[in-house]
Amino acid sequence: MNHIAHWIGGATRKGTSGRVGPVHNPATGEQIAEVDLASESEVNQAVAVAREAAEGWRAASLAKRAAVLFTFRELLAGRKDALAAIVTREHGKVAADAAGEVARGLENVEFATGIPHLMKGGFSEQAATGVDVYSIRQPLGVVAGITPFNFPAMVPLWMCATAIAAGNAFVLKPSEKDPSAALWLAGLWREAGLPDGVFTVVNGDKEAVDAILAHPDVAAVSFVGSTPIARYIYETGTANGKRVQALGGAKNHMVVLPDAELDAAADAAISAGYGAAGERCMAISVVVAVGEIADPLVAAIAERLPGIRIGDGADPGSEMGPLISAQHRDRVASYIEAGVTAGAKVIEDGRKSGRIPEKGFFLGATLLDNVTPEMSVYTDEIFGPVLSVVRVETYAEAVELINSNEYGNGTAIFTRDGGAARRFQFDVNAGMVGVNVPIPVPVAYYSFGGWKASLFGDTHMYGPDGIHFFTRSKVVTSRWPDPGTSKIDLGFPQTDKSDLPKP
Ligand code: NAD
Repeated sequence: MNHIAHWIGGATRKGTSGRVGPVHNPATGEQIAEVDLASESEVNQAVAVAREAAEGWRAASLAKRAAVLFTFRELLAGRKDALAAIVTREHGKVAADAAGEVARGLENVEFATGIPHLMKGGFSEQAATGVDVYSIRQPLGVVAGITPFNFPAMVPLWMCATAIAAGNAFVLKPSEKDPSAALWLAGLWREAGLPDGVFTVVNGDKEAVDAILAHPDVAAVSFVGSTPIARYIYETGTANGKRVQALGGAKNHMVVLPDAELDAAADAAISAGYGAAGERCMAISVVVAVGEIADPLVAAIAERLPGIRIGDGADPGSEMGPLISAQHRDRVASYIEAGVTAGAKVIEDGRKSGRIPEKGFFLGATLLDNVTPEMSVYTDEIFGPVLSVVRVETYAEAVELINSNEYGNGTAIFTRDGGAARRFQFDVNAGMVGVNVPIPVPVAYYSFGGWKASLFGDTHMYGPDGIHFFTRSKVVTSRWPDPGTSKIDLGFPQTDKSDLPKP
């Protein structure tokens, strides 16, 4: 049995808690490894090592930090296929999708190579007579990332590239379901010349997370996962005095107006609804069909469903892989049943699809029509290959539906009317909006984040917001007086305007 340990002080370290968790290949259903689950004392040891490393790393020049980032970028770009294969083996997503995940993670590293520019402060010469004022941004010290199973390479890269470039030591607690990508990245950081202890991996579950949230030396926590856990992380972390950004779940709506290009909308619904078997926080799970486009749209989506090739992600012919676990597959399947019971019209039932492999955690693509807002298939994040169609009569009803939803991660509109698209962008309550783009994940020089129950905290992830999150501002007011020019003044300091003419 392959054993997955922690990474502390620049080397693997076997766990001492005596607790391990199983890691499966979801395409075969077989357990392929066991992963150490850290105790509180192991987390404390890891943070102590990171704290020491943080002191040295924040003193490293910007030029040196950028050079490490450039080398890391080169290594990652050169070996991206190896990382994608690890993602496919433990997560199950198909090779092309895993390659896309690595590519989007790589973008964040490329952004972070510009750290000398990104860390620049401001300078005001002569703010008062003989006084200059300037601002600088400094790292926080030890910061932690807690990441979900569905992007085991990209989400850690969202966080660690910026955090490390900014001069912090980064402690990663990856998902215990697919932890190998994190360990692989740790080795790559070392090879890139990152000093030992600046990148740490502690594997674990709630016990490790709680130890991170309680640790006084962890200054900030960046979290991505489901909404109930995001809320818990935000509330606990901030109560313990930490800076926290916690990204949660989603229920992303795609509005299709009557004038939309039908084939493009149907293709987008298939790609964004069933890609990664629906296990994306930016997956489209609700198609909102406005007016008379509903019948032809449902028909066009249904017509495409038999063409989706479902199979082992390692097989280059597969387009949709398995779900992460048997338990999750059964949970997703239970939602299909709930939809049927609640009166949704089943266009395709993934439980009955004859085209899925027998072994592994597979479920076929499901399409439900006539879904209404009170049904659990609509209210809950299913996180599987289940696409619901809600029919409305007007644009206003479509926007009202989205704005009333608990979540506000991403949303999209499909139309040929630029005015309607612009109005949608203005009206809709969501953090990321696509116009004829179903999965509007921002490029690395913008930032990623949702609204409402999809994000707790003030800053979005990566890009400019990431730099802001992983640094704090300091403002210096400075004077270099000539000897003998000082005087005592007990008044509150103010800028000198005494030589202005009286009005
Ligand atoms: P999850 O919330 O179960 O787990 C996320 C992390 O929290 C893992 O590291 C896990 O070990 C830890 N965790 C789990 N239960 C915990 C508990 N009780 N106490 C403390 N820590 C705990 O999420 P997941 O199933 O790994 O990932 C899927 C979820 O993540 C979906 O809801 C998806 O929408 C969301 N997600 C959101 C985004 C985003 O950017 N908004 C991106 C990717 C995934």
